[in-house]
Amino acid sequence: MDLSFLRREFGERFVEDVDVALLYVRDASILESRAKALGVVFPVDEEEVVKLVRWAVAERVPLFPQGSATSISGNAVATSPGVVVSFEKMTRVEVDHVDGVAVVEPGVRLEELNHELARYGLFFPVDPGSVKSATVGGAVANGAGGMRGAKYGTMRDWVLGLRVVTGRGDVLKLGCRTYKCRNGYDLVRLFVGSEGTLGLVTEAVLKLAPVPESAVALLAYYDDLEALVEDVVRVKTSRIWPLFAEFLDAPTSALVGLEERNALFLGVDVNAGAEERLLERLTSIVRGEVAQRAVGWEGAMKLLEPRRRLFSGQVASAEREGGVLVVEDVAVPISKLPEAVSGLKALAAKHGVPLLLGGHIGDGNLHPATWYRRGEGAEKVERFLRDMAQLVLRLNGTVSAEHGIGLLKKDLVALELGEALLSYMRELKQIFDPHNILNPGKIL
Ligand SMILES: Cc1cc2nc3c(=O)[nH]c(=O)nc-3n(C[C@H](O)[C@H](O)[C@H](O)COP(=O)(O)OP(=O)(O)OC[C@H]3O[C@@H](n4cnc5c(N)ncnc54)[C@H](O)[C@@H]3O)c2cc1C
Repeated sequence: MDLSFLRREFGERFVEDVDVALLYVRDASILESRAKALGVVFPVDEEEVVKLVRWAVAERVPLFPQGSATSISGNAVATSPGVVVSFEKMTRVEVDHVDGVAVVEPGVRLEELNHELARYGLFFPVDPGSVKSATVGGAVANGAGGMRGAKYGTMRDWVLGLRVVTGRGDVLKLGCRTYKCRNGYDLVRLFVGSEGTLGLVTEAVLKLAPVPESAVALLAYYDDLEALVEDVVRVKTSRIWPLFAEFLDAPTSALVGLEERNALFLGVDVNAGAEERLLERLTSIVRGEVAQRAVGWEGAMKLLEPRRRLFSGQVASAEREGGVLVVEDVAVPISKLPEAVSGLKALAAKHGVPLLLGGHIGDGNLHPATWYRRGEGAEKVERFLRDMAQLVLRLNGTVSAEHGIGLLKKDLVALELGEALLSYMRELKQIFDPHNILNPGKIL
């Protein structure tokens, strides 16, 4: 492979060192890529991305885009000898606080964006557990969600426009800079969640929200997981719109340093002065044992901190057992949560697999985790996952709420979509990336 073009065009920003490249071929999933990347390219602007894609098209070299590689489903793994495109040097942010938008390059980390927005009393509400590392490009491409999904949804609700470089080397400007926009087919929605398979995002126009004046939060413990779920349903049907409603089951609570009991983290935003009244109302609805209360935005976010350790707790637990962790990402309508939780527990018992439960219960998104030891038990886990998929689909749910499909969820999503819909998706891929050079092998 002649890489002289990359050496000439990118100079020191094309890194061929094998050890460095190895750091970039994988993500936070269990997959260990064996592909030897040809190198890592660090473009600084859209013009360079266009040059790179056109070269890759001419040479038929796969490109693997990457933000911070925190994906859990193998979305950012380099699977074949190709070039990893790291966006970490594209970090320009332009805020228009009157219009309520930020125009952002893909390498900006979500937490850094929020630091910048705090000057204007604004914030970007999508808040994955990985917010300190996750980039705008990665969050757009994964259609990420997170802790505040109960109120604010996921990336697809907050991206107004995009600039992308397609697998044909064309630059497309999608969507608008205005909140309202009806300019033909909604290709923004198509690209949000496309996991780098249709185009490389070089800029995103994000909708912003004012930081609420205040918030209240509580941490409640339950001996019975079903009772916790019922409380979430009760809050959601009491004319209260939670900012977050997150949970950990008893074993997971212990893993993140809480009491070994089922834990509900419940937060609601509120106007300053009305906190005590709202807290009183919440404590009268919730039947769990309220162990902590917080008043104020900062306090509410701090109360949530142990919940952010869900993934690392799950990883540690599987590693302690010498196991390979499998984290799922299903969602069901709120009304079906009790059935989903008891159904998952019954399926784990039926297949004899361990089960840790936690997740964004306020929007119906559960992250069941299980594990198997290398060389034993993988088939049992596979059967459990297929039954889990059937269960959530029967409950009008989905197999992937926010983590995306990557490599690990392809079988399950195929079950959800069916062949006819998959064939339309394959044709869409063909339109935007006819030579299959953009993150090949993912989703479809
Ligand atoms: C501890 C932990 C907690 C997490 N919590 C959550 C959570 O609460 N909610 C949630 O939704 N997810 C969560 N995740 C998953 C992940 O962090 C998010 O999806 C995150 O948004 C990915 O951002 P990233 O910058 O790491 O992207 P990467 O992992 O680098 O990439 C994500 C995808 O986007 C593609 N991509 C990256 N940049 C571009 C670009 N510029 N153009 C086109 N494609 C691109 C990649 O190829 C890949 O397919 C968590 C992960 C961890 C490790």
